[in-house]
Amino acid sequence: MPFPLHLFNPQNFARLTPRRVSLVRFVRAIDDVAVVDASDPDDRGFDLDPTFANAHGPAFGISGPDGATTAQQCRIRVIRDRLEPAVPLFPTIADPALVTQVSPAPGAVLNPSFPGDDTLIVRAARAPATDTSTTLSLHFGSATGPVVGECTIRVLPIIPITVKGHLVTINGGAPSSNRATFDALLLRANIILAAAGIKLTLDPVIQPENISGLRTANTISLLNSTAHFDSELSQVMRLRPLSSALNVYIVGNIDQISSGGNNHNVVAGVGISSVRAASRPPSGTYVGGQTGFVTRDPDDLDLFGWVFAHELGHVLTLEHYNNKQVPNVQSNNWSQRNIMYNHVNVFTGNPVNSIGYGIHGAGALGLPVNGRFRSGAFIGIKQFTRIFQSNQSFTMRTAANNGTFLIV
Ligand SMILES: [Zn+2]
Repeated sequence: MPFPLHLFNPQNFARLTPRRVSLVRFVRAIDDVAVVDASDPDDRGFDLDPTFANAHGPAFGISGPDGATTAQQCRIRVIRDRLEPAVPLFPTIADPALVTQVSPAPGAVLNPSFPGDDTLIVRAARAPATDTSTTLSLHFGSATGPVVGECTIRVLPIIPITVKGHLVTINGGAPSSNRATFDALLLRANIILAAAGIKLTLDPVIQPENISGLRTANTISLLNSTAHFDSELSQVMRLRPLSSALNVYIVGNIDQISSGGNNHNVVAGVGISSVRAASRPPSGTYVGGQTGFVTRDPDDLDLFGWVFAHELGHVLTLEHYNNKQVPNVQSNNWSQRNIMYNHVNVFTGNPVNSIGYGIHGAGALGLPVNGRFRSGAFIGIKQFTRIFQSNQSFTMRTAANNGTFLIV
């Protein structure tokens, strides 16, 4: 129903607190685990940022075309907070040579009933030489009418990273994973990483490794207080790494002895960048830290696809969200939606219940698990000085170009 809107110039009313009224919002087009054509918008804050997000609204990233392959489509959903479904909204893209408006067609009205729930579809029209943004605007009445909402679309030319897979037999115990496991994990990780323009490709030869003399068969035991430089982990990560690739080792189990007691498979993976690895060189009997990551046999491919993308974040120098570590983990709408949130599961009652990652019925895709919901896969793209590494996409891409995924 229409409502009256009174406009004041706040400069003429010193005691009036200005309020910003948002008529529409842009949100993720789906509400469960990540899919490749539904980028998760960075809707933190409203600061104008000329480098990364120059629209009054959220920002989201899409990959440029992959060689001869057309760039994937990306859906973005419009929520009419203060507009009726009958209000005609016309999307426009400031630089149509950079981003193609697939649906609705350029100049056409956004139809609330098709393709459903006011969902827009866009696609990168070309791969720019460097990361380049354009603005998606929603106009009232016609394509040249007043703008009632806008967001930034950032087109990211693809950075390829080759993954070398290793399957590690420990004290005679072999993991149950195989080549198909690597394929499934890379598929799921690439769905998440598309929003940062990073694409993993698996080296065709999966390398079997053998090591003995560790504490438990088929298991890495994290014995030190600093897991990144654990003796057993470092020994495994130095098994025949390929110098031109990101080396990923799958083991049967990871036990965390260092935290007291035997925490069996609480740790899903450990990722280490070349910067961190180089900080702990060989010393005495210690073989030295090494770049790459270790994960264990996945018991849920969606969950471990998330782990794959999260550990790749660490390999590309990302810290946990806002660099907050246990027991000071930052838990709010944005951190729990984020790929660098400290935990893959969050408990019920947290904001994640209503932000799009915990809607599944019991059992579907393994959610919820033991009363917990999954954290999200959003990759930050905006720049805020008050949030550490707020522009995660830029941080990852810079690190990838600097080769922090390569061995030391
Ligand atoms: Zn982590």
